[in-house]
Amino acid sequence: MKAIQVHKFGGPEVLELHEIPSPKPSHGQILVRVHAAGVNPYDTYMRSGTYAVKPPLPYTPGSDAAGSVEAIGDGVRKVKPGDRVYTAKTLTGAYAEYTLVDESQVYPLPGKISFAQGAGLWVPYGTAYTALHHHGHARPAETLLIHGASGGVGTAAIQYARAMGMIVLGTAGSQRGLDLIKKEGANQVFDHSKPEHAEEILKFTGGRGVDVILEMLANVNLATDLKLLATNGRTVVIGNRGDITINPRELMLHRSSVSGFTLWATTETEAAEIHAAIAAGLENGTLRPIVGKEIPLKEASRAHQEVLAPGAFGKIVLVP
Ligand code: NAP
Repeated sequence: MKAIQVHKFGGPEVLELHEIPSPKPSHGQILVRVHAAGVNPYDTYMRSGTYAVKPPLPYTPGSDAAGSVEAIGDGVRKVKPGDRVYTAKTLTGAYAEYTLVDESQVYPLPGKISFAQGAGLWVPYGTAYTALHHHGHARPAETLLIHGASGGVGTAAIQYARAMGMIVLGTAGSQRGLDLIKKEGANQVFDHSKPEHAEEILKFTGGRGVDVILEMLANVNLATDLKLLATNGRTVVIGNRGDITINPRELMLHRSSVSGFTLWATTETEAAEIHAAIAAGLENGTLRPIVGKEIPLKEASRAHQEVLAPGAFGKIVLVP
């Protein structure tokens, strides 16, 4: 099979297409024929060798794939050959024509959801759900600011939050991104490339502030976020790419809190909750993964450049 492999950590150019043997499923394992693989920002951090999780070399990147079951090992009960599935992590990497997964890592993909959309489920929707519910303790009628709403996690968060009855304020840095988040249901949109956007957000809330903030770039925004919180507000740090100075007095004044998490530490119970919410949302149409770009597998290095570039528009997926 063809697979992207990383033989040494480095820039996007270390993503190379190789011809390697297809894996064979052992007991409790499933071989999935990959129709689309999701590209997540963490794939780029891991590839560069600077991420907390450093896989042994060579490795094939990617945790989010969607495709059909090609073969199953002994004892597998959850799926059968031909079933449409999405993955939440894999054993051998998603950027390939086939990926091997444990039975616990596959979930059914409804017929009305395309494979490209299915490749944008686990990391984006798992992260948005964890941030909103497990950390943000979000409630209907509360006001939510999604600081960075135009990408994979942000669009997922808009859909979850609107479906549960929150008032959603979203930000993007391009007109196309602003139009997208408005279309996905944000009640009001703001341009985070304009310094005055924080003031505009506060003004929109009548000076009260927002109840929950989902922050995609904490090293830029955290100090401002703390000023935008209402009393008892919660900021959830989802993305961060550096250091920032904050004034902790803002937390005292607003009786507010900041928390953070990584999806890697999700427990089995939390994962069951996330997949149940994804299944329900896909079925009732409140969750509609946005695919902005489909890029051929062999151009994975281009996908890694584009996923970090400004102007996000939903997900970027690789197509073998
Ligand atoms: P993505 O699809 O590449 O989207 C990135 C988002 O960040 C876009 O909405 C982008 O907006 C926005 N952004 C850019 N500059 C910003 C600024 N100054 N202020 C606020 N937002 C800004 O990435 P993603 O998959 O949604 O992930 C978002 C972040 O969360 C990444 O840093 C990722 O590594 C992290 N993440 C963390 C976890 C976790 O477990 N904690 C899980 C998944 C993702 P424009 O392009 O429109 O400017």
